Amino acid sequence: MNVGDREPLIRDPVVVKLVEVWRPVWALSYASSLLGWDARTYMPRKAAPERGVARAELSVLSRRLLLSREVKALLEVAEKRVELLNLYEAGVVRVLRREIDISEKLPEDFVYNFNKLVEEAASVWEQAKAKSDFKMFQPYLEKIVEMARKEAEYLGYEGHPYNALLDLYEEGLRIDDVDNMFNTIIPESKKVLEKVLSEGYYPQKHELERREYDKEKMREANVKILNLLGYPWERARMDVSAHPFTTKIGMYDVRITTWYPEIDGAPRDFKRSLYAVIHEFGHALYELQVDERLAMTPVASANSLGIHESQSRFWENIVGRSMEFTGLIKPILDETIGITKEYTVEELYKYFNIVTPSLIRVEADEVTYNMHIYLRYVIEKKLIEGSLSVSELPQVWNDMMEELLGVRPKNDREGVLQDVHWSLGSIGYFPTYSLGNVVSAQVKAALEKDLGELPDLISRGEEGIVEIKNWLREKIHKYGSTLKPRDIVKRATGEEYNPKYFVEYLYKKYVRR
Ligand code: MG
Repeated sequence: MNVGDREPLIRDPVVVKLVEVWRPVWALSYASSLLGWDARTYMPRKAAPERGVARAELSVLSRRLLLSREVKALLEVAEKRVELLNLYEAGVVRVLRREIDISEKLPEDFVYNFNKLVEEAASVWEQAKAKSDFKMFQPYLEKIVEMARKEAEYLGYEGHPYNALLDLYEEGLRIDDVDNMFNTIIPESKKVLEKVLSEGYYPQKHELERREYDKEKMREANVKILNLLGYPWERARMDVSAHPFTTKIGMYDVRITTWYPEIDGAPRDFKRSLYAVIHEFGHALYELQVDERLAMTPVASANSLGIHESQSRFWENIVGRSMEFTGLIKPILDETIGITKEYTVEELYKYFNIVTPSLIRVEADEVTYNMHIYLRYVIEKKLIEGSLSVSELPQVWNDMMEELLGVRPKNDREGVLQDVHWSLGSIGYFPTYSLGNVVSAQVKAALEKDLGELPDLISRGEEGIVEIKNWLREKIHKYGSTLKPRDIVKRATGEEYNPKYFVEYLYKKYVRR
């Protein structure tokens, strides 16, 4: 392991011993991550049920080891000496305490039943979506909401039960934070959208969306763009999956995937493949830049969904969809897929930045994306507090879409059934996407205070990109999950979550006059 002869970060004897005793838990998650990655990339399709059982057994084993007397006893000793611990050691103690508390609060039979329910629900959801039939999924979602409410009761909360679910995905995140975020960004996003549509500089569609490209050449483009970004191939990979994702297997093994989605029987709209790569690169970079001395410890992985998404969004949107970055990658696209040759950098930039009110969240642009999240947040909160019943969902969804974006789904598939999350039991997850957008703009502002304007940095190519990466490593990435999400943001930007930077970013980029 190449950590040089630097002093170890975890050196308190009790915490060292604690990490050693906990290490089998890490090893199981290492194995399970690899199995999970394989399941979504190369595994033969028929292997799915068997693989599911294998991973479920590993997770039971892991829970048992985590809750073993040995780990808990050492953790208690470490907690008593917390004032002697450095930042990283205290981080280990905090992360393990949180994991153990959550595991202990949720009874084993509850976890088992919830997992069984969502396994069934996920496959029913798939069929219901294909048939665009919400009624089919409704009884399952009713049970999931009921279980999620129970989960909140088991976990405990202050104020609203939804706080317990938010905290599960983003440590310390509360309804007050989310309300404050949406109260600022939603009205402003509406205003920006109106301006964009009336000014007409950013198109609502572009002919390049329909242009067919060569998959192999696009792969070559993706590799070259990752090279430009300094993707370390000796520690990382890029493969293909049905939906793009990133997985950290270990400190020296981080993998991203992309896709080459087909429209009318051929790969078209190459930006979908390209921006999947840049987005996942942002996730991967976070994991790759964690201090290597934290390898194989409980803080080795960046565990906040919101901060993670801020990093992927930073690279995808703030860097990747800028005019300057478009200028950097145009030569790469010209010499690989070639269909970009007849367009100017500005024209390409417009294709990369189409803005249009749409029905589907995953296809939404920077201006409208958060409205999709806001809708889900409002619905989830009401479902959990019991002021909205599952049967009312399609109607409420469609009405809210119309109110927010002026478009109305024609059926459940392009409405309430579009996302997989609820079928997986993930209620309270969506707000982390918007938090990611908000934090990405806050990070941009802080970075510019130190390094100067981002467009200038990007224009300098590889050298400027290295400067950006170094800043992110020192301010955010190197800590892994040592710090609470809120504390990372405070440390990196000097402020609490502040949505005004996202609004400023939108205005600067999208309002031309
Ligand atoms: Mg992401």
